[in-house]
Amino acid sequence: MSYQDEREQLLEIVQFAYNVDLIRMSAGNISSRTADGNVAITPSGIKYHSMNAEDISIVDLECNLLEGPIPSSEIPMHTAIYRNISRAISICHTHSIYGMVFAMLQEDIPLMNVELMVCGAPIPVAPWASPGTAKAGEVTVDIFQARPELSVILLRQHGLVAIGNSLDQAFEKAYNAETGLETFYKSRLLGTPQPFSQEQINEIKETYGI
Ligand SMILES: [Zn+2]
Repeated sequence: MSYQDEREQLLEIVQFAYNVDLIRMSAGNISSRTADGNVAITPSGIKYHSMNAEDISIVDLECNLLEGPIPSSEIPMHTAIYRNISRAISICHTHSIYGMVFAMLQEDIPLMNVELMVCGAPIPVAPWASPGTAKAGEVTVDIFQARPELSVILLRQHGLVAIGNSLDQAFEKAYNAETGLETFYKSRLLGTPQPFSQEQINEIKETYGI
């Protein structure tokens, strides 16, 4: 099996994401650039709980399948990001619960907590684009290009997409976003949560060098 290291590293992150409920059944997809400039990505229609390393697809940046099963139908968004956003080494796209909740509300997410801060909050909701289309790539690329500090975008009525400089980091960004959104959601049930003030933001950034 070629691309063995890349496939095994991707499968390991898939299992982490599956175990914390970021991805379920076969919804959501994770990818990473390979050393030779192609892309390793989760396949279409294979359930995460039964996925093996040989089930990981290898495609080029134009969506052509090079090895493995049929890739995720959302490959146009992944390859568009890789073609245009050099800081994106890996991508974690989820249909996670709280990402979907706020993506349906179509509200930009204020800077409410540190988990959202490390994602580059405020987190925008991208304009509507049907999942699996080239437009889904265009709308996310436009935002990531305009916001170099941003690593997470909500996909309108769809889910969230996180980019990182490694598979670990893309996964962590998605996980932090989901945690930040879950706590924001729950605090709104109990009261009126307040975003950080600029003074608080400055203090946190100074302390953590964010
Ligand atoms: Zn999706």
